[in-house]
Amino acid sequence: MTAKPQNTNIMKNVVNRALAAKKKTIFTLIAALCCTTFISAQDFEIATWEGFRKGAASFTFDDGAPCHISDVAPTFEQHGYRATFYLVNNWNPDWEGFQTLVDKGHEVGSHSDSHPQNMTGEEASSKAHIEAHILNQQCLTVAYPNCNVPNEEAVRQNYIAGRICNGSQQGLPDIMGKDGPTSWTKVPAFITGSIGISNFKDKMQSAANMGGWVVFLTHGLQGKNNGNANYSPTELSSIIDALKWAQQNDEKIWIAPLRDVAMYIKERNAAKIQVKATTASSWTCSLTHTIADNICNYNYPLSMRVKNSSNWAVVEVKQNGKVIDSKINDGYIYFSAIPNGGDIVVRDASADKLEQTTIDQSQTSNRKLILDGHLYILRDGKTYTAQGQEVR
Ligand SMILES: [Zn+2]
Repeated sequence: MTAKPQNTNIMKNVVNRALAAKKKTIFTLIAALCCTTFISAQDFEIATWEGFRKGAASFTFDDGAPCHISDVAPTFEQHGYRATFYLVNNWNPDWEGFQTLVDKGHEVGSHSDSHPQNMTGEEASSKAHIEAHILNQQCLTVAYPNCNVPNEEAVRQNYIAGRICNGSQQGLPDIMGKDGPTSWTKVPAFITGSIGISNFKDKMQSAANMGGWVVFLTHGLQGKNNGNANYSPTELSSIIDALKWAQQNDEKIWIAPLRDVAMYIKERNAAKIQVKATTASSWTCSLTHTIADNICNYNYPLSMRVKNSSNWAVVEVKQNGKVIDSKINDGYIYFSAIPNGGDIVVRDASADKLEQTTIDQSQTSNRKLILDGHLYILRDGKTYTAQGQEVR
């Protein structure tokens, strides 16, 4: 045997391999060209909790105490959070004071008309009374006096959620899972204060660990003006500690009024995403839901993300024609959208950036600049956010 045939075989192999490599390159190129903009509904994700946090917590305050206005609400506002306040109509709450809280984003709900042993019969009337006195919100949630569940059908006809006290008292979990309570007429809450709990942090940590939702039920505060809310007073310092912990663990816990979390869960579980159009530089989709009850519009924004499969460096996200906040992080495009709020368009805005960065700012008037997915306005040599605040 000579070496000649062997050499020929080696040459054949080398040629075949080179051809295969070339074919592979061509296929990769074709795949890259035709598939970069392909996106399906499955590529979109709705966060379990706002901001893709691990868990949720709601702080509720019963009986309309004067210190809720003077001490509690300002404490929440200082830490960037909002709470829920349940009023008893016949106890003459400070309507004007609670209206200012609603105007700052807090929730006011019903705690009945007369604080009877069981509020059956006052479900609709107490809601109407609150809506006559407190404007700029609907009265959407109720807290039952003395922890007694009233007529559940009447609750369902008037409210998106009804709060009980400790779940364990009624054979229910104290901390809820990601889908909320077993029944929306029985949202459990830990009673806090001298005859309740004060370890808010541990409960919030537990909620985050299990991906769930914890609700706190507080009355008055130790040493403050509590009016009729004198049951189981809570130390304000323990609430401050809780809010500080939440700030330091912002990626873990979402703090919001009970109403907002209830809306979020219902919307998230009913939401449907449909991709309506894709081009090389934009994706259009819809976010819709049908929720059977007509208690409210269910238009709380849902936190969403979509894979940045085209690796766009700069994006603009619009809903119903208006630019909404967005950011690119870890291969995803993040934004918040309102269900049934119009089409969502995610667009490659890299070209905008290139075009706009060459503009001499001193020559501009009301020019748009999109940077890292945020819209800025350039005017008279200054840069403003979409909300009109100057960026320095
Ligand atoms: Zn009460």
